[in-house]
Amino acid sequence: MQVDRVRLNILDLPIDAVSRQEAAGTVADALSGGDAMAIVTINAEMAMAARLDPRLAATIRRAGLVLPDGSGVVWAARRRGVKVKKIAGVDFIHEIAEQCIRAGRGMFLLGAGPGVADEAARALADRHPGLAVVGTADGYFSPEAEAELCERIREARPGALLVALGVPRQEYWISDHQQELDVPVCMGIGGSLDVLSGRVRRAPPWMVSAHLEWLFRLIKEPWRWRRMASALPAFVLAALASERQERYTGPGR
Ligand code: UDP
Repeated sequence: MQVDRVRLNILDLPIDAVSRQEAAGTVADALSGGDAMAIVTINAEMAMAARLDPRLAATIRRAGLVLPDGSGVVWAARRRGVKVKKIAGVDFIHEIAEQCIRAGRGMFLLGAGPGVADEAARALADRHPGLAVVGTADGYFSPEAEAELCERIREARPGALLVALGVPRQEYWISDHQQELDVPVCMGIGGSLDVLSGRVRRAPPWMVSAHLEWLFRLIKEPWRWRRMASALPAFVLAALASERQERYTGPGR
């Protein structure tokens, strides 16, 4: 499915204004012989990290699909008059699973603590009959074990590789290895394997629809407070400042 995507530029980073269905269509394209692509799910925290980390910014700019995964980025996109809906990485995994089944390709899960990816694989297979999880590996491998891990992934020939190593390591890892692994679709998924395995609880649906998932996470994982508390207001201020500047100089790239 060919999709005319609106790609927004917010703080010099791309954000794709796509529906879930359109995003799934680009995954289907990649799985059926189109260009391989990395999927990034971006939120305010990641956007602010990218301002200080040129390697992360470049990796996001090269991604085939950049999904808005946070209330801050959705707000910034809507201020530009584009109606964008949040697409959380942890939800989009299920679209990828369905597209893998349709394309007759498997999925490989990499990351999180020992045993977590296996539990997540079982949960995914239960929810998506016909899904082949063709391999799993935890995310605490040594640099010496990396070559062997890459060999395992290559031999498993997955259509999609989900990488849960945390930001920005998972984005770097995908960017460094996707080509040699020859996997059509790779996505960084943060803590999603912990959620899929049932070890970490997700916010209740009412909090998700009230855009309060960040608050739930903050209550559950208070050590995130410093990182999150500084990122969201800083993102809002930076987005407003760049809007003001664009009014004088015209939109950026
Ligand atoms: N992780 C890992 N290897 C590491 C560091 C982290 O596999 O060396 C995993 C960790 O167990 C967790 C995920 O990466 O499952 C990161 O989750 P987090 O919620 O911190 O992601 P982020 O906030 O970066 O999206």
